Amino acid sequence: MTAGTSPSLSMAPAVELHDVRFAYGAGPDVVAISHLAIPRGETVFLHGPSGSGKTTLLGLLAGVLRATRGRVQILGTDLTRLSNGERDAFRARHLGYVFQQFNLIPYLSVRENILLPVRLDAARRARLQGVDPVRAADALAAELDIAQALEKPVTQLSVGQQQRVAVARSLIASPEVVICDEPTSALDSDRRERFLQLLFASCRKAGATLVFVSHDMSLQPLFSRAISLPEVNTASAVALVEN
Ligand code: ADP
Ligand code: MG
Repeated sequence: MTAGTSPSLSMAPAVELHDVRFAYGAGPDVVAISHLAIPRGETVFLHGPSGSGKTTLLGLLAGVLRATRGRVQILGTDLTRLSNGERDAFRARHLGYVFQQFNLIPYLSVRENILLPVRLDAARRARLQGVDPVRAADALAAELDIAQALEKPVTQLSVGQQQRVAVARSLIASPEVVICDEPTSALDSDRRERFLQLLFASCRKAGATLVFVSHDMSLQPLFSRAISLPEVNTASAVALVEN
């Protein structure tokens, strides 16, 4: 895929959704969004009650899930038109994703986990602009206070440390879009502050667009825009389970 590099596509918003529907299997729609656009460079705080579809929406934006209907355009590329393999490649190249469950590789060290995106994709590696990948990984680990754990398997780390590994992995080689699913929930307030500073600085430097899900409404003023998911997601299934 070379999408996202031509002049016309480079003008496309970071995220644009049209008439998107998503259901798990044969179940009811849990996401129904008629239109949502996020311009490049925005930092978006996405919030809503548990079960309102936040994680599902992030899965659609990252191409982990495929919409049952509509268009999910990321950097001008409609993910719904890509095969599973093409969506995986697109994600590796353009996106950083901090999953709610981290999705670290248990048999790899901290350093190798952080290095995964640049090991998997040459175009992502090229975004390092000549910086040695190991140096880039180690620098992120130092900034996130996990340098002492670089050689350890991730299974030996605390939950808070694992979360920071996931964050370092999402930020390596400055992806255009960074997606975070409740990334601060296991951090103490000191580390939360430092983590957010690093996240914002990294996104600003790369001109990246940030989509950040959190329950912590005190973080909202730090962002350029807030989106309440229940206001844009009209799927009736989520309205029924709202709590
Ligand atoms: P949130 O992240 O806002 O808590 P989710 O996106 O996880 O919400 O869930 C939205 C709805 O989809 C909920 O009703 C949830 O039960 C359902 N759901 C989430 N994941 C799955 C899945 N893998 N299979 C079936 N239903 C799911
Ligand atoms: Mg969730």
